[in-house]
Amino acid sequence: MRRSEKEHVTNPRELGLLADCESCFGLCCVALPFAASADFAVDKAGGQPCHNLRDDFRCSIHAQLRERGFPGCTVFDCFGAGQKVSQVTYEGRSWREEPATARQMYAVFPVMRQLHELLWYLAEALTLEAARPLHDALRAALDETERLTRQGADALEKLDVAAHRGEVNELLLRASELARAGLKGKERRGADLIGARLKGADLRGANLRGAYLIGADLRGADLRQADLIGADLRGADLSGADLTGSVFLTQAQVNAARGDSATRLPGSLSRPAHWTDGGGGAGQRRPAGTGRPAQGASRGKGASGGRAQGRGRGQGGDQGRGTGRRSR
Ligand code: SF4
Repeated sequence: MRRSEKEHVTNPRELGLLADCESCFGLCCVALPFAASADFAVDKAGGQPCHNLRDDFRCSIHAQLRERGFPGCTVFDCFGAGQKVSQVTYEGRSWREEPATARQMYAVFPVMRQLHELLWYLAEALTLEAARPLHDALRAALDETERLTRQGADALEKLDVAAHRGEVNELLLRASELARAGLKGKERRGADLIGARLKGADLRGANLRGAYLIGADLRGADLRQADLIGADLRGADLSGADLTGSVFLTQAQVNAARGDSATRLPGSLSRPAHWTDGGGGAGQRRPAGTGRPAQGASRGKGASGGRAQGRGRGQGGDQGRGTGRRSR
């Protein structure tokens, strides 16, 4: 069917929001710092290529990231920012070919990641029927954000992305409120729920924006229509939990959590391969052959859920692969 002029693409693939490591210059493995921890075996400064990054921008240990102490790399998501910077902003010229571009390219990447993460949420908001009254404003914000991503490197580096994020976040908040209207969900925005015992909890329609749910026991919890933007789900046990209809949940957040065959996810998200009936561990392996992490968390990179837990979560994007939360 032909799209009407006013209709907007909301498919992440069509919007270029799915990471394509083969079209990227390994930016997440170079530009972003990470600290030795349970997520990373070593310290690495921003701008320093990871010692596991090969000359062809592939990861030399991508099949053994967890075993080699880099689980954080398995759950980071750039939302397609890597290939946009590599192929659009820099038109296919890598930092290896043109070292003079490196500093700025590394500075532009986290900005682009934040913009792409916003595109992701805006696209989801446009799929929320309850948010229809906001659709014109959401479309305008999506168009403006897309326009910003296509600026030159100088403009991107100088962009006040925090200000733009703030404006978009207001819209996302309103969309979330419309989606959860009438449910009387709990208000737990930004709550410290680390290790919380929430087995079987009624969290339907809850506001869990930016909540710290690291290691929380959410087995069998009702999270339908809950707003989970930026929630840190690293190691949280979602076995048997119902997350259908949850708002602004990303694959990265899911990847960083644990779950099982009984966990119910929104239709747009996939069950991580590492989930088992016993719960499994956090994180997900990158797509075979890409050489770098897929979507997810842990690394300290992050936007509200970008390679979300571990590497970063939260809308906005951080400077590292760790936990980068924003949108709260
Ligand atoms: S995926 Fe992780 S371990 Fe592999 S090159 Fe990138 S940063 Fe290094």
